Amino acid sequence: MALSSTDRPAARPAARPRKARGEGQWALGHREPLNPNERIKKDDDPLNVRARIENIYAHTGFAGIDPQDLRGRFRWWGLYTQRKAGIDGGKTAVLEPHELEDEYFMLRVRVDGGRLSLAQLRVIAQISQDFGRDTADITDRQNIQLHWIRVEDMPEIWRRLEDVGLFTTEACGDCPRVVLGSPVAGVAENEVLDATPAIDEILRRYVGDKRFSNLPRKFKTSIGWLADTPYEANDIAFIGVEHPQHGPGFDLWVGGGLSTNPRLAERLGVWVPLDEIPDVWEGVVSIFRDYGYRRLRNRARLKFLLADWGVEKFREVLEKEYLGRALIDGPPPVLPDKPIDHIGPYRQVDGKYFVGASPVVGRSSGTALARLADVVEAHGSDRVSLTPYQKLIVLDVEESKVDSLIEAMRGAGFDARPSAWRRNTMACTGIEFCKLAIVETKARGEELVARLEQRLRDFDTDISIHINGCPNSCARTQTADIGLKGMLVLDEHGKQVEGFQVHLGGGLGMAQGQTAGFGRKVRGLKTTAEELPAYVERLATNYLAGRTSADESFA
Ligand code: SF4
Repeated sequence: MALSSTDRPAARPAARPRKARGEGQWALGHREPLNPNERIKKDDDPLNVRARIENIYAHTGFAGIDPQDLRGRFRWWGLYTQRKAGIDGGKTAVLEPHELEDEYFMLRVRVDGGRLSLAQLRVIAQISQDFGRDTADITDRQNIQLHWIRVEDMPEIWRRLEDVGLFTTEACGDCPRVVLGSPVAGVAENEVLDATPAIDEILRRYVGDKRFSNLPRKFKTSIGWLADTPYEANDIAFIGVEHPQHGPGFDLWVGGGLSTNPRLAERLGVWVPLDEIPDVWEGVVSIFRDYGYRRLRNRARLKFLLADWGVEKFREVLEKEYLGRALIDGPPPVLPDKPIDHIGPYRQVDGKYFVGASPVVGRSSGTALARLADVVEAHGSDRVSLTPYQKLIVLDVEESKVDSLIEAMRGAGFDARPSAWRRNTMACTGIEFCKLAIVETKARGEELVARLEQRLRDFDTDISIHINGCPNSCARTQTADIGLKGMLVLDEHGKQVEGFQVHLGGGLGMAQGQTAGFGRKVRGLKTTAEELPAYVERLATNYLAGRTSADESFA
């Protein structure tokens, strides 16, 4: 029915066009207003805090630390205050940071490309035992994380780490984080080019460089011939590809990131030779520094800029403003149809073997790592690598020693023939140490694996289970078959308890056009933490009952 003129609402005066608010992009002259994080970075380069830790705070102790250093700049050296014990998840959002934090720190040790010599492994193990109450978790970014660290001990910890070529520089903070790499780079039979020189060159040129120590937020990198890292979840990724004219090189992806507003990285459609990776990396990180959004923290990742620009404009800016030359068009890489975790023994290109083994949800200890180092040495190897699936690989083992190694590793808590549950379950740090957490994760993961191993011992399918203590998705909630996001839920009596929102059917490392993508967040699909084992068991049993063939994926 048409409205008569008297029915119509009075015409409003035309609204004045709104002035677009800047996103805080430096390249467009937006230096102000700064949010508190930007202010801290502007007031003093966070890398400068190292000197204060060594010269001042190591002597004054926790009480003497400037709050802006404590909650801001310490992260650039891998240090976060850890959560005070006994504070439940319901208080996470309501307490002030100082009420949540303990006077101890989590320390993240960078292990770029996941590579560790036995000497390095032993130093980490000893630091864990001497200063970290024997804690040592393998993270899903190939780092090792220690807890219970005191600021007084940091000078000695850095001395020991740096003596063996390890460091914590920019292990956290708004800067270039640890570079993921293939944990079997240089030895994998199906690798054409070892990307390790590019990783090393990026570390040498840019990590600790003040030109890149103030980015809008963290910047995550993955570089490897094999797509055996979760490359699509990184701000920048280089994946091996054969160009029909130019030969082997790397395909460039940008703008991936999970957490809230998850987004998979996208291809720029360019082919990059190995020796040009560092320059192209510098171009992309410079775009992020100059054009990245700094006004709001929750829009400060590269993925938001890419979403607004699109890949064409991104490539054009990269080529014209930063590289000063056109990049070569390239074909897409051949991707695996499921994630590669390297668990078990595999032949290397030199005829030796590597053996991948699984702790439970990445949890280990200084004692276990020291024991493992002895086992590895006794079997003739002098190096291991960490994977972005919270696993560990022993490299360079003679075939005749593989079985004995597998047996001995089990004694140190690393199983090279794990159950499907142990193999495919990951967990983030969670409420035990993380100030942002809402729920417990590691212990829940261990309980879950134990229960499923007992109830579904011979389960024959890989179903990935990623347990996260909050929406931040450090254990990649959205990319698991069963992704669990920690939250408070109501139990059957209406009482608020720890629980999880469930995402189903996600995956990374999948060939394009197949099942790559995020798990579906089904409205109302939640479980209490207590019911989690029974819930996962039901999902698995229903999958078994409903599948039409043994190779039908859970997704
Ligand atoms: Fe902490 Fe949340 Fe990350 Fe888990 S997902 S480590 S709880 S911030």
